[in-house]
Amino acid sequence: FSNELSKVEHLQTVSQLAASISHEVRNPLTVTRGFIQLLRDTVVSEEKKKQYINISLAELDRAEHIITDYLNFAKPSMQNAELLELNRELEYIVQVIQPYASMGNIGVHTIKNDEKDIYILGQGKKFHQSLINIIKNGIEAMEQGGDLTIRLTEKDDKAVIIIQDTGKGMSAEQIRMLGTPFYTTKEQGTGLGMMVSFSIIKAMEGECEVESTPGRGTCFTITFPAIPFPQADSALT
Ligand code: ADP
Ligand code: MG
Repeated sequence: FSNELSKVEHLQTVSQLAASISHEVRNPLTVTRGFIQLLRDTVVSEEKKKQYINISLAELDRAEHIITDYLNFAKPSMQNAELLELNRELEYIVQVIQPYASMGNIGVHTIKNDEKDIYILGQGKKFHQSLINIIKNGIEAMEQGGDLTIRLTEKDDKAVIIIQDTGKGMSAEQIRMLGTPFYTTKEQGTGLGMMVSFSIIKAMEGECEVESTPGRGTCFTITFPAIPFPQADSALT
């Protein structure tokens, strides 16, 4: 089953999206402000106080998650594209994600292509964001712990990154919904992570295939045009 980034094509314009995201961030801020004002201006019981603070913290977390998922999503483009060597990039990404995986009792296995450099074109930060959003979802899909495997290969002039989890998996309908803004099945979800990932991958002329079995796990196969080594060498200068 594949989701061919089609959602991205039907995205509302970037400005509409920005408006709905600022709305999503403003809500928790308004709620939190209200509670802080209550705490300042009225006498409340210890119990109420605790309740107000807990709601405020949860709301602030939510705002933070929205910003984290959306972080680098501002019209992804190939402007300022750099040459990225994928063994090194994956090493960096795994370092970033490792603490989050350890917290969830998840083993991260990286199968790199160390003996050969694999180059693609893109903006480093956006590329990181696109993979981190996908990997984070994999980790979050394994509530009981599990294994996350990230594999890098090269095939027919394509760089191939495979991200596999042993988590709860998705139905065909859930796969179809992936990348739709604000589609989430999580209590604290933003429903923005996949949209951001798909947009970035598409801007980098990449493709993304999703295979999943409910109860077993999910596999993302992400493909980018590989830049041949001699050209990569001269593109560096
Ligand atoms: P969020 O993570 O905030 O919910 P995303 O756009 O990142 O938003 O993901 C949307 C939804 O897609 C998730 O809520 C989840 O239901 C589903 N999903 C994405 N990746 C996976 C995965 N690896 N395993 C199971 N479900 C997933
Ligand atoms: Mg997510």
